[in-house]
Amino acid sequence: MQVKTLILGAGLTGLSTAYHLEQNGQNDYLLVEKEPVCGGLCASTQSHGFTYDYGGHLLHLHTPEGKKLVKKLLKTNLSRLSRNAFIYTHGVRVPYPFQAHLAALPATVRKECATGLLNRPSFKTVSTFEQWCLAAFGAGIYEHFFKPYHQKIWNCNPAQLTADWCAPFVPVLSAQDIRRSLQKTNRKHYGYNSYFYYPKQGGIGSLAQALAAKISHLQLNSTVTAVDLKRQTAVVNGHVVHYRYLINTLPLKDFTKLLKGQNRLKKQADFLKSVPVTVYHLVIARKVRPFSWLYFPEKDVPFYRVGLQSAFSAHNAPKNSSLFYIELPGLAKNTPALRKKIWTCLVQKGIIKRSDRPVFSAWQSVTHAYVIYDKKRTQVVSFLQNALAQHSCYCGGRYGSWNYSFMESALLEGKSLAQKVK
Ligand SMILES: Cc1cc2nc3c(=O)[nH]c(=O)nc-3n(C[C@H](O)[C@H](O)[C@H](O)COP(=O)(O)OP(=O)(O)OC[C@H]3O[C@@H](n4cnc5c(N)ncnc54)[C@H](O)[C@@H]3O)c2cc1C
Repeated sequence: MQVKTLILGAGLTGLSTAYHLEQNGQNDYLLVEKEPVCGGLCASTQSHGFTYDYGGHLLHLHTPEGKKLVKKLLKTNLSRLSRNAFIYTHGVRVPYPFQAHLAALPATVRKECATGLLNRPSFKTVSTFEQWCLAAFGAGIYEHFFKPYHQKIWNCNPAQLTADWCAPFVPVLSAQDIRRSLQKTNRKHYGYNSYFYYPKQGGIGSLAQALAAKISHLQLNSTVTAVDLKRQTAVVNGHVVHYRYLINTLPLKDFTKLLKGQNRLKKQADFLKSVPVTVYHLVIARKVRPFSWLYFPEKDVPFYRVGLQSAFSAHNAPKNSSLFYIELPGLAKNTPALRKKIWTCLVQKGIIKRSDRPVFSAWQSVTHAYVIYDKKRTQVVSFLQNALAQHSCYCGGRYGSWNYSFMESALLEGKSLAQKVK
């Protein structure tokens, strides 16, 4: 088989690439996806009347272009929702973001945070995430929130991570804002996610489905097992496909392993690190007080974030039930002991009641959920992408570019990838 452009992976990036190729009048392409459904991490599962995503998948639309595309695709199937998020720590519930609501903390913790703020080092010598947090918020806020929370997800010390990724995601406040956060309830909205969008029906997967409906050459159940950059061929379900351009949205580390030869690239890809997460979906037969999501930085709680999927859309769960997504660090095994521990913690934190009963549950895992921004990452990613581009192979998406990005970027990257095809 011969195609001009072969696109690997029908997550949002691959789907958007195919969509934009067609918009550019380029119809000679094939988009291959190993799963029986498209969407990748932006797929939703419908089961027993519930709709759930791979953990929280909310649309943060920050560019006019991204917003326009999503609205064009989802039309009226889109709601705008306000964030209602909290952090459970030190026995209290602190509104998110932590740094803007220090008044909610117990007096001793608040004092440590305030002292740290007044003695912040400068940003001048910042290179690690730890140094960045210290310069932005001081030692108290770092020790009481940023360090334990990030250590829990990334399973490593923030001193080993770079600060390359964090600026768009961690709201830095003015000195005046922070002083205000110490004195009284702060009603100002902060951060990239103070409001967000979500489909009215069909879960987040309806975005991927809307894209899929607009493209012609999507092949599901099709696994890529080998790529020969020199001959410009890929093996898909055992068949050789010849291409002129290869667009890769598979995780960069996994993709490199599929290459014939290319030992230098494989050696570099070995440096790329990521952490998996596990998502436990749980339903109880009662409506709980609505919230968007909650953070749990403390070690003795097995999960780091809990979201209320049924709060994003009335169609995600039947009336009088609550559907939670509970995100756990690493690959957690679905055992009765872990389920009991999760349940006990949810009761202790007052999220569910002892008298509640689970009526449905499901487990999912994401292998490369968060890529690790260590000292090697930037250099290795740019080396690999440049080397691959010399063979007309272009990588994109959260894992193809091995970065920390969102669905809006996946959609926009698909457009840029389509422009590589001449
Ligand atoms: C826990 C979690 C929460 C998130 N929350 C949000 C959020 O709230 N908002 C937001 O905007 N973003 C969020 N994201 C990020 C979002 O999921 C990604 O940015 C986006 O879905 C990435 O799309 P992609 O197409 O680049 O990658 P993917 O979705 O990973 O797509 C890659 C595709 O390649 C396929 N594939 C893999 N190997 C092969 C093979 N050998 N052959 C063929 N196909 C293959 C996969 O099956 C998959 O469909 C979250 C991510 C995680 C992990």
